Amino acid sequence: MKVIAVLNQKGGSGKTTIATQIARGLQLQGHSVLLVDSDKQGSARDWRAVDEDNPVPVIGLDRPTLDKDLKSVSDKDYVVIDGSPQATSLAISAIKAADFILIPVQPSPYDIWATSDLVDLVQQRIEVMDGQLKAAFVVSRAIQNTNIGKEVATALLDYGLPVLDTRIMQRVAYPNSAAIGKTVFDTESPNSNAIQEMTALVNEIKTFFI
Ligand code: ADP
Ligand code: MG
Repeated sequence: MKVIAVLNQKGGSGKTTIATQIARGLQLQGHSVLLVDSDKQGSARDWRAVDEDNPVPVIGLDRPTLDKDLKSVSDKDYVVIDGSPQATSLAISAIKAADFILIPVQPSPYDIWATSDLVDLVQQRIEVMDGQLKAAFVVSRAIQNTNIGKEVATALLDYGLPVLDTRIMQRVAYPNSAAIGKTVFDTESPNSNAIQEMTALVNEIKTFFI
């Protein structure tokens, strides 16, 4: 079982969007997947509830015992944790449960600065785990035709974690698919930009498990 935690205490950074999309993307690549909603607001559970035929299993584990609670969950190829908006004991337990931590960050200095507490926690854990735990940033909700890319990547690299090559752009396809309890994999055409970037994200995440 490989546990991917999508974390950032900043609300609106795209955690739930990315967690739901990559869970479905992994599933469509033939893996068994469980999506864990660690946010008390229950956005991933709400998403799951919209469509009773939604093929992605979702459970809510929103207590600081998340890492222990996960042990009683039946074995899956991948568990994707949709992070909560607090850098509290709940985030710490998600960090403990994770094999790979994905930190979505919007390309703005305020959002980059706001990740520093989380990055400290993640780096402490990486040290304890002697490199067994991996973590990376992904630029999320980037606006087309803006040239903030390089500065953002440089600023993020100062935190000492890699930045994924894949960037997730701001696209209406994401909220549109979520509104009907689906993902872009179910609503867009196979060669759409949204499917291409989410597939690239899934594939890039998988390289951390090789
Ligand atoms: P978080 O879980 O980090 O709070 P969400 O995934 O809920 O973030 O995203 C916050 C809002 O932004 C939601 O309304 C969501 O639909 C929208 N959103 C997130 N990512 C994208 C994107 N790549 N393109 C367009 N809208 C997005
Ligand atoms: Mg969320």
